[in-house]
Amino acid sequence: MIVLPTFGRSLRRHFGFKVRKIPLSIPSFSCPNIDGRFGRGGCSYCINESFSPNFAKTPRSVTLETQIDALQSQFLSGVETFKTLGFKRFLAYFQSFSNTYAPIETLRVLHSAALRQKECVGISVGTRADCIDLSTLTYLDELNKKTYLWLEIGAQSSHNETLESINRQERFETVSETIIKLKELGIRVCVHLIFGLPNETDDMILTTVDRVSKLGVDAVKIHPLYIVKNAAIAKDNFEPLSIERYLDLLVKSIKRFPKNIVYQRISAGVDSDALIAPLWCKNKNSAMALIRNRLLREGFIY
Ligand code: SF4
Repeated sequence: MIVLPTFGRSLRRHFGFKVRKIPLSIPSFSCPNIDGRFGRGGCSYCINESFSPNFAKTPRSVTLETQIDALQSQFLSGVETFKTLGFKRFLAYFQSFSNTYAPIETLRVLHSAALRQKECVGISVGTRADCIDLSTLTYLDELNKKTYLWLEIGAQSSHNETLESINRQERFETVSETIIKLKELGIRVCVHLIFGLPNETDDMILTTVDRVSKLGVDAVKIHPLYIVKNAAIAKDNFEPLSIERYLDLLVKSIKRFPKNIVYQRISAGVDSDALIAPLWCKNKNSAMALIRNRLLREGFIY
């Protein structure tokens, strides 16, 4: 049996105790694929706006103080929850939208505010590759020397025709070049992938797995494409991913990824009436039970 390097196991090995991520949503942050800089409307499956009420309500001129206050209240509720679960420390996870799409000074102030929390042992930043320019890289290099840092880069697919069809407004070359630069600086990189994007065959998905592996990323987050109400993709007509196909793809991918790659996530749980398909994503626990059982049969402990 092979014990897979989950994120929980890798954090425990690094810190010696249980660490949990606290997801954060920064008022005023946006995405260049929503606000018109690179595109409008966002990726066709994106639900950030409908799940981030702050986005619509917050004026673009919101002050840094307001954003730090918002951070602190998110930390307070997050810390309460993680302590009851036996976690000792947390990573501040800048999750919603594109979290390097802001002036460097803003990022510096917000990251410093996070690191001032006594339970915070590091930072994880979710973003798009095209929101990391030379000055961002210089700043991230500095931050990486100060704290335990992860960059989470949305790739979703390595096929430009797919990226075009989901209105990603980004080419895979940009993603790979940015990852190479981050890795040259020794920054930990987690890549986000979606299995089951429209018109992608199993071969295409596994090609993405191989291309991402070659980039030397440290971790992956994989989830099936799920469709929620109000997402642009909900209007399209295509076959949602079955659990059987997802499990087959997951097993084949795990067999292809490097042995030491960390699995930050391998499923999705959308416990919301907004979920249209696939319905097996509604209950994360039952989906995870199916995934764990299948992996066990293949000789993997998740
Ligand atoms: S890059 Fe992320 S936040 Fe921006 S539109 Fe796509 S999924 Fe949404």
